[in-house]
Amino acid sequence: MVLERGEVANSWRHERWDSLRLLTPNWQARLPRYQYEGGDPDGFMTMPEVVAFIARYAQVSAAPVRTGTTVTSIDRTEDAYRVATTQGEWRCRTVVLASGACNAASVPAVRQAVPSSVTCVTALEYRNPSQLPEGGVLVVGASATGVQLADEIRRSGRPVTLSVGEHVRLPRMYRGRDVLWWMDRSGVWNQRYDEIDDVTRARRLPSPQLVGTTERSTLDLNTLSAVGVELVGRLATVRDGKALFSGGLRNQFALADLKMDRLLDTFDEWAGAQGDAFDVGPVERFEPTRMPASSRLTLDLGSGEIRTILWCTGFHPEYSWLHVPVVDAKGHLRHDGGVVDAPGLYALGLPVLRRRKSTFIHGAEDDARDIVEHLVAYLGASASAGR
Ligand SMILES: Cc1cc2nc3c(=O)[nH]c(=O)nc-3n(C[C@H](O)[C@H](O)[C@H](O)COP(=O)(O)OP(=O)(O)OC[C@H]3O[C@@H](n4cnc5c(N)ncnc54)[C@H](O)[C@@H]3O)c2cc1C
Repeated sequence: MVLERGEVANSWRHERWDSLRLLTPNWQARLPRYQYEGGDPDGFMTMPEVVAFIARYAQVSAAPVRTGTTVTSIDRTEDAYRVATTQGEWRCRTVVLASGACNAASVPAVRQAVPSSVTCVTALEYRNPSQLPEGGVLVVGASATGVQLADEIRRSGRPVTLSVGEHVRLPRMYRGRDVLWWMDRSGVWNQRYDEIDDVTRARRLPSPQLVGTTERSTLDLNTLSAVGVELVGRLATVRDGKALFSGGLRNQFALADLKMDRLLDTFDEWAGAQGDAFDVGPVERFEPTRMPASSRLTLDLGSGEIRTILWCTGFHPEYSWLHVPVVDAKGHLRHDGGVVDAPGLYALGLPVLRRRKSTFIHGAEDDARDIVEHLVAYLGASASAGR
């Protein structure tokens, strides 16, 4: 039984901004025994298109979905789980937590120190620029969400300052192919969690600076500077009504450029080993991220220059209803590749759960197969033990 608090494709219907398109190309939209079959494999779906894609999958897969059913608590009983919902109670030998990796906005504690004259909006609340008060916008966070929203708001005519911390820079196209084609074909995206040196770090990596547009354009910090977005360092704190930014912008740029070049080296090595099996263009390297002529270290939030802070500082899962002691002090689920630290409890859809691609739509296919295999073995073992 699949329990869903809202409707099928709820997060895509209700938790995304109006202009959002997937940053993964249509050819990558695939779920078990189901894939995109439209006429634009290299395009990027709009939100209504994603909703239609997933709603159709619910139909063709005939999944037993109960919508409008919020899980309010899960408790462990002697040999099973008691799942309380707004539509009654269930008793289950096994539970798969597939409640999403992005249910709640992660906002740093300094938000509390922001003067009340400045409106704070999270990426989950943002819909379009017209929703924000007139005037300047400070966007905090320069990963996929932050760069996309900084660009959209700047193009709507407002002054935008973007606070940049650790980020992952990627070109949209590389050697004539989508960069996610390279991630896919070279095997980088399939890398398993138990083959990654530091999986804890890999699970916390920010999302890549990518956008899905009809022009298939790159959206990096150079693009944003060119349209007039002011770049400042990582937001360190807010003191006496002033935002204080770290001075490490040059280092952040250099690190992101270096990591991008290393990834492109990996792609090149892989391509070299394929001979002429694939039609790709010549090796490319991109202009380093340009340092602004000057970068402010403080910004007076009381001066009226900034009317809105848009927190694009990431998302996290929300497990307040999970009354099984498997969530650590930092709110992370304790699991080994989705096998949660409690008998018969599983997870799907979390960052690098079993593979680098786990948190993306197409990542569900391989992960679900592995998890179901484990789950079936668990049920078999408990049946033969007479439990
Ligand atoms: C801004 C943004 C852009 C993204 N862009 C892409 C992209 O371009 N390509 C891509 O592949 N992926 C993208 N993703 C990642 C995307 O979220 C995942 O690929 C996909 O949604 C994961 O599906 P899921 O079912 O695991 O999680 P979700 O889609 O979050 O679904 C979880 C479901 O659980 C329900 N739920 C939660 N708590 C309860 C409860 N207590 N009781 C009952 N139901 C509950 C929610 O209502 C929701 O419908 C993006 C994510 C974000 C936030």
